[in-house]
Parts: sequence; C-alpha cells; structure tokens
Amino acid sequence: MHTPSTPRDAVTASAFPTALEVATFAVVLLEDNPLFNSGHGAVFTRDGTNELEASVMVSRGFAKRAIGVMGLRRVRNPILLARRILEHGDANLVGERGASAAGGLDVPSAQYHTQIYGEAAEILAQQYGLEMVEPGYFFTQNRWDQHIRGLEREKEGRGLATWSLDEYVPQGTCGAVALDADGVTCCATSTGGLTNKLTGRIGDTPTVGAGFWAEEWTEAGDPTGQTQDLHPPPSVILSDSLKGLIADCLPSPFVYAPVPEFRSSLVATRCVAVSGTGNGDSFLRTAAARTAASIARFATVSSAVAVTKVTGPSGELQKSAGDRWGKTGEGEGGIIGIEAVVVRDEEGRVVATRSDILQDFNCAGMFRAWIDEQGVAIARVWHTNSVVPDAYVGEGRPEEPRFWIGKKEL
Ligand code: ASP
Repeated sequence: MHTPSTPRDAVTASAFPTALEVATFAVVLLEDNPLFNSGHGAVFTRDGTNELEASVMVSRGFAKRAIGVMGLRRVRNPILLARRILEHGDANLVGERGASAAGGLDVPSAQYHTQIYGEAAEILAQQYGLEMVEPGYFFTQNRWDQHIRGLEREKEGRGLATWSLDEYVPQGTCGAVALDADGVTCCATSTGGLTNKLTGRIGDTPTVGAGFWAEEWTEAGDPTGQTQDLHPPPSVILSDSLKGLIADCLPSPFVYAPVPEFRSSLVATRCVAVSGTGNGDSFLRTAAARTAASIARFATVSSAVAVTKVTGPSGELQKSAGDRWGKTGEGEGGIIGIEAVVVRDEEGRVVATRSDILQDFNCAGMFRAWIDEQGVAIARVWHTNSVVPDAYVGEGRPEEPRFWIGKKEL
C-alpha cells in the first residue's frame, strides 16, 4: 500500500502539524485503501466509470476557506488536489499563475474559484505535481459486483440501482476532522459518490455547505458552557441627576428597581468542522453541514446538539425524505465533526477551553473512529445504545495508539 509521508510541512508556529495536514493525511490513507468509498475503493457510476469528488475547509487561515473538486477520473488522491487549491488560493487571488499547458483548456491557476470540475481540475493536479493514474487504478472487483447487482436489481423491477432495502449498498464517503494547536478546525472529505449515480452527477461531498463545513465565530459570554464571569460589568449606570429625574416622573410611593441586564465581560470563540456521509442529494437539499453549524451558531447550542438536530433520528435530513424515508435511501446519513471553544476575559486572557467530538446518524450504523482527550483510540459502527452484532468485536473497545506505531510514548 502507498503510504503518504508523515505530515511535516507545518505552516503553523507550533511544533505540531496543522489541522489541514492532519485531516488530509488521514483521508489519503482512506483513499488508498480499497475498503473505503473514495480513491482506490471508489464506487462506479451507472456507466461503469469512477468519478471522484473531494473537499477541504478550514475554520480560519486561508482566504478561500473551502475547496471542492469533482468529476475526477485520473487524480490518485483527490483530497490532495483540494488541499493544494486551498493552499494556492491566497496567491491565486493576487495573480499567481501556474505553467500554462500546451493545448487543451486554458487553466493558468484555480483563479478565485471554490469548486472546480473535471478536466480543469485535473490540469491543476498536474500543475501541482500530484500523482496521476490510469482510470483502471480505481477498479476493484467488490465495487464492480455491487455496480452490476444494482443495475440488475433495477432491471428486474426490484428497486433502485443506487439503494436497496435488502442489500447494504455501501456508501461510506471518507471524512476526517481535526483541531490544531492554533485553534483551527478542518474537515477533509472524499468520495466516489453513490453506487450507480448518473455519470456527471455532483454530490454533497464537493459542495460547500452540503457535505462539509468549517467555521469560527465569537459570542458574548459563554452561553454553551459553564465559565463563570468573575467581573461582569455593571448592567445599568445611572447618574445622580438621572436617578432624580426618574424619581420625579414616577408616581410615589415607588420603589426603583432596575431589571438587571446581564452583560458578560467574557467572549467565547467557537470553531467547528463537520463532514457528512449518506444520501448526498438529501444533504444538498438541506445544506446539511452549514445547517448544523448555523444551528450551533445562531440558536447558541452546542455543536453536538446541532448535529443531532440535522442528522440524528427524526432530524432535518430524515424529515426531508418525507414519506419516502426508508424506501429510496433519501434522508439517510450521518455527520462527524469537532468543536472547540476558547473563552477569554476582557483583557484577552484565556479563562477556559474545551473541545468536543461530534457524531450522529439516522441510519443503522456509521463507521467512525476518534482519539479522545486521554489519547485513547475508539472505533464504533453502531449507536452506543444499540445491540452490537457478535462479529463487531472491536466495537467501542479502547485501543492505545502508541502500540500501533511501536512507540512507548506519543
Ligand atoms: N454522500 C455521498 C454521495 O451522495 C455518498 C456517501 O456518503 O457515501 O455522493
């Protein structure tokens, strides 16, 4: 198996890799593994081709923030193309040009564009020196068999070529989210799309706000946390003459009792990154990823609550399928994500920090793994409260990542 080099070209002041490096590194590993529906293991279109899609987004740090690439047939690792376009974005915006290719499309750079399709995207991949492959590289027997079975099912009038109640037609877009030492969150997502999608169909994975989103914002106080404000500024300050005026205007006897309006001296910076998998057309209809972040931001709830409102049981995604839920695959899906909160006082001193791993889905299972605050790795397929089939021996079982790499200390 091709193993990408360890990420070490950090742009951050810190000694650690950036969230962008970590998330894209993880997705390269998944793209290279035929078990996953991205890169080498991508599913087939109705016409028996592979059309790959990928995206990255950061909560802060690059002018373009988000990139989606789609309709790729020859880029070995689509996630690296999305990353390079993001990294070149700032320079492209002020006129950086790549080497012009002779003949073909005129693609001097990614310009100020955010989403790029097909041949133009592949020309950029070549300019960046990314590895190109023959389309046959993406052939795997397993995916081919699923493609043929789906078409036969549809031909025999036993349902759709893209989805079946009886057979688990793997979706399994790959996503990774990361938070770095600079407080930046990043999501990286890559897919072959839906099995037997139309050739030319564009899904949620490369579409900003549908299958992925990252964002940072600030809030007064710490409304989703517990941080106590030790020095709240006075809510109402009245001069003596104003107090006298109020007293003159009001019938006596009266008791003057201003309603205290709580104003905090604290400011919370929140950042979130989410990546989705499932029926991409439903993610598109609900702008699922941005909807989750918007709920967190504008309803001022934790991102975990917001993700559940979109992709948990009976959430926005499921509702979008209406009475077709469970019949067409519409509305099915899940989201992984990460949220970080940094609370500062009025002097700008950090008084609290916290982060949260986000995950919820409305279908039977979602393959996911994370490393928790103690450095322990956990993988799960099922909901924590569901009955786990015997075959899933590793479900929720803590693992020590340092043993994987033969090191005693991380
Ligand atoms: N969301 C992807 C799509 O619809 C499929 C998946 O998650 O596997 O293209």
